[in-house]
Amino acid sequence: MFATTVEEESVEYDDDEPMTLTEFQQSVHRMLGADLPMGEAFRLSRWQFQARQAGRYRDGRILLAGDAAHLLPATGAALNLGMLDAVNLAWKLAADIRGGAPSGLLDTYETERRYAGERALLQTRAQVALRRGTDPAADALREVVQELLADEQPARRLGALIAGADLRYPGSDPHPLTGTFVTDLTLQTGQGTTSVAALLHRARPILLVRADRADLREAAAGWLDRVDIRTAGTEQRPTDALLIRPDGHIAWAAAIDEPADTAVPRLHQALSEWFGDPTPPITPQNDTEVPGVAR
Ligand SMILES: Cc1cc2nc3c(=O)[nH]c(=O)nc-3n(C[C@H](O)[C@H](O)[C@H](O)COP(=O)(O)OP(=O)(O)OC[C@H]3O[C@@H](n4cnc5c(N)ncnc54)[C@H](O)[C@@H]3O)c2cc1C
Repeated sequence: MFATTVEEESVEYDDDEPMTLTEFQQSVHRMLGADLPMGEAFRLSRWQFQARQAGRYRDGRILLAGDAAHLLPATGAALNLGMLDAVNLAWKLAADIRGGAPSGLLDTYETERRYAGERALLQTRAQVALRRGTDPAADALREVVQELLADEQPARRLGALIAGADLRYPGSDPHPLTGTFVTDLTLQTGQGTTSVAALLHRARPILLVRADRADLREAAAGWLDRVDIRTAGTEQRPTDALLIRPDGHIAWAAAIDEPADTAVPRLHQALSEWFGDPTPPITPQNDTEVPGVAR
């Protein structure tokens, strides 16, 4: 059903066969050109170069995540990638099971996370290319990359690529922040200081709005049963408001001083696109209380 993989590289032996001491000794001999004295092995297992991705992540009620969906050729990224698959899928599955999820919500899991898998394959393949070469050209490449990484900007960029934090998921909202992973801003609220990460502990969507944008708070009243509306200020003030999905990706943003004429229709569209149709509007009360969040 999911058998189509985009590719499979350098499979040299039968992975189902257990590794024996003899095979291990032969491998060492091949690499070193000499035999090493060895006693009984405590544990032997295989690590195999693989760069593979499932052709599809979803077939009806079956969804692939983690190593079932992708295998990377370099270590250090696979666990993160798999956990972010799970975080992306969990809130969409929950919405679907609870009922009222917008149509096509579960399909966005495949679109978004297959793209994330492609990016992870890109960067892990690049790591392999950096590690594998043994000639002067490969040494030169490593030296150039090392020089670049001494500067803060390229180091940050590469760090975000490896962490999967540089993704911008496709979506209909045109604001440049939409689809990106939210920055963990420090927030000043009426109840004290908190942060975006702390608010996300509840795994619910959050509409963060500056105090002077009551128009945007009121515009979201029809979604109060599914979306926590929080009034907060930040020192940086990147926007007037952010709609954040439970997985930390931004679903909508209002530009600074953006008029309600343009901001509200886009907000309604984003709320419906990600969290379903509004229930009959409720007059907004005070901000939702957040249990367990330091204020
Ligand atoms: C030696 C090694 C070193 C690694 N180092 C790193 C590292 O430094 N950093 C990093 O990010 N990643 C690393 N990885 C990769 C990382 O461990 C995996 O990406 C991660 O564990 C995948 O998690 P998963 O939940 O998708 O799959 P798994 O951890 O494989 O979990 C799948 C689970 O499903 C169970 N299962 C299978 N079939 C069935 C069935 N039919 N019914 C019920 N249960 C079933 C399995 O027993 C298993 O418990 C390393 C992997 C290896 C092997």
